[in-house]
Amino acid sequence: MPEEPLAIGVDIGGTAIKLGRVRPSGEIVAQFETPSPVAQPQEEAVREVARAIARLADGRGVRAVGIGCAGLVDSARGIVHLSPNLPRWRDAPIKEWLSRELSLPVTVLNDANAFALAEAQVGAGRGHSPVVGITLGTGVGGAIVENGRLWGGRYGFSGEVGHISLELDGPPCPCGNRGCLELYVGRRALVSAYLDRAGWEPGRIAFDLAAGERQALEPRLLYDAANRGDHIAREVFARAGIVLGVALANLTNLLDPEVFVVGGGVAQAGDLLLEPARRTLAERAMMGASRVPPVIPAALGMSAGLIGAALQALRGPAG
Ligand SMILES: [Zn+2]
Repeated sequence: MPEEPLAIGVDIGGTAIKLGRVRPSGEIVAQFETPSPVAQPQEEAVREVARAIARLADGRGVRAVGIGCAGLVDSARGIVHLSPNLPRWRDAPIKEWLSRELSLPVTVLNDANAFALAEAQVGAGRGHSPVVGITLGTGVGGAIVENGRLWGGRYGFSGEVGHISLELDGPPCPCGNRGCLELYVGRRALVSAYLDRAGWEPGRIAFDLAAGERQALEPRLLYDAANRGDHIAREVFARAGIVLGVALANLTNLLDPEVFVVGGGVAQAGDLLLEPARRTLAERAMMGASRVPPVIPAALGMSAGLIGAALQALRGPAG
């Protein structure tokens, strides 16, 4: 029997690098995490990533390596131009460096692309096409997958769902536009929307849950507060859900997807966020409420990025 090809998938995050040895079915057969080399110069950091990959790949039928990384990634050339997770990386040719270190083919994807590919092929969107995957976290990312393949656009920069502009004269966004979705549903937006309305004083459920530590106020904690009856926290998610729903209606009018798969830390709020999004989508999409695509939570959790990177790597450079 021919040996099954395996790939190493790598998800380069701001605090940890997650690595997994992955089968073509998306199953992870071995995995580990290592702290992100945020402080090292980029070439040294890439060598450290290479050593971690080599540890996991060593003599085990690994044919390729896939890297998922947040930021501006040119996947055609395998260059990470900018990454919020690795501020010292600038135009890092990580495909070239890693393939030289490892003597294996390397593919590089934006993390949202890796997430969407995994969810479309082996996760919540399996069997559907096109799938639009959306990650809600500190940033808001997205990608379009058609028949199991990423729709990358000319440079692989497509799917920037977080920078769909929803307000002509809205607040300025670092991307150069104004009123972008990320400014309303990203982690920071939710926290500041809550603080603007609720203040930060003892007696508030969120304040008590965070033991008064303002730094600890995260969407996860707001979600807990909402479930314990903090009505301002509930309203913050409901409002963000409406804004998300407007963006989903725009995407539906443009792409007519079969399903939206929503993941990332902020999406853990579940129906508190997604129900208002679904309602708004149904009200606003041109095709009418009976035909709008379902909006479903992601299924692969924190492993989606590394699985998607590995699946892309197994497909090879032509994929
Ligand atoms: Zn923007």
